Amino acid sequence: MKVFSTVAETRHWCRQQLRETHSIGFAPTMGALHEGHLSLVRQANEQCDRSVVSIFVNPTQFAPHEDLDQYPRPIENDLALLRQAGTDAVFLPSVQEMYLSDSGDESTKVLPSSVALPLEGVHRPDHFVGVATVVMKLLQIVPADRAFFGRKDFQQLCVIEHMARDLSMATEIVPCPIVREEDGLAMSSRNRYLSTEERKRALCLSKALQAVQQAFDAGQRDPSELELVMKDSLKPCDHLDYAVVVDRESLLPVSKITRSVVALIAARIGKTRLIDNCELTLANIV
Ligand code: AMP
Repeated sequence: MKVFSTVAETRHWCRQQLRETHSIGFAPTMGALHEGHLSLVRQANEQCDRSVVSIFVNPTQFAPHEDLDQYPRPIENDLALLRQAGTDAVFLPSVQEMYLSDSGDESTKVLPSSVALPLEGVHRPDHFVGVATVVMKLLQIVPADRAFFGRKDFQQLCVIEHMARDLSMATEIVPCPIVREEDGLAMSSRNRYLSTEERKRALCLSKALQAVQQAFDAGQRDPSELELVMKDSLKPCDHLDYAVVVDRESLLPVSKITRSVVALIAARIGKTRLIDNCELTLANIV
């Protein structure tokens, strides 16, 4: 497995692969890898000739009060996991290498589509500008045929799909399923912040989504009623940012469910902010 820390050597290696007509699958991450990340790598390996993973804790997507400094960086363990998963190359840049400055604050930015405005856009106002910009940069460095993103970060996936479509990007964006712990908790690098007691309470997010799925399957089509079902299960949270059922394409509220929707939750357990979601598709109608 190649490990690169510079833009130049990463780009050089990728171009060489493409010249040799090998397709490239790419999974961008912030490290502290778990099975959710590794599932993206496996997809990249299955669908493409070469797999590339980036590990970069992107400062421009964190607000000043967020967990940038505490964000876990177990790099040796990450590299061992990627080696085991059969990754061909890892891009591991410093902030200076990516932004030619200490923060990236002064750099050119990508303005995401309006799908970035509700939900996370309200609670983390500059977050998706940071995400869209770093993904755009990463795809200039790793000119992948396909890039793999988890549905765990549903709104992020929408933002990136819109960016790829609106800016006529050459890379195909491939959505991948949410990977969960055995008891249902969606895997996240931030789960390691949870104490034993908080870890138990964190289960209420996936329980709320199971409850909303059940209500939907039983025929409930009123979004406010579905939201109440979720909120009822979310009482163990210390703070609820949102628990909503919204249109799956626009992420805007709907008064009646006539096409597929998505249930999205963002909540704090202790100091840890967790997100989770489940798509309620019309195929599920009984
Ligand atoms: P992150 O390191 O949190 O920026 O995540 C990198 C990529 O892994 C993103 O595309 C995430 O959506 C994806 N990811 C994170 N957790 C999961 C999970 N539990 N299941 C599937 N994909 C995930």
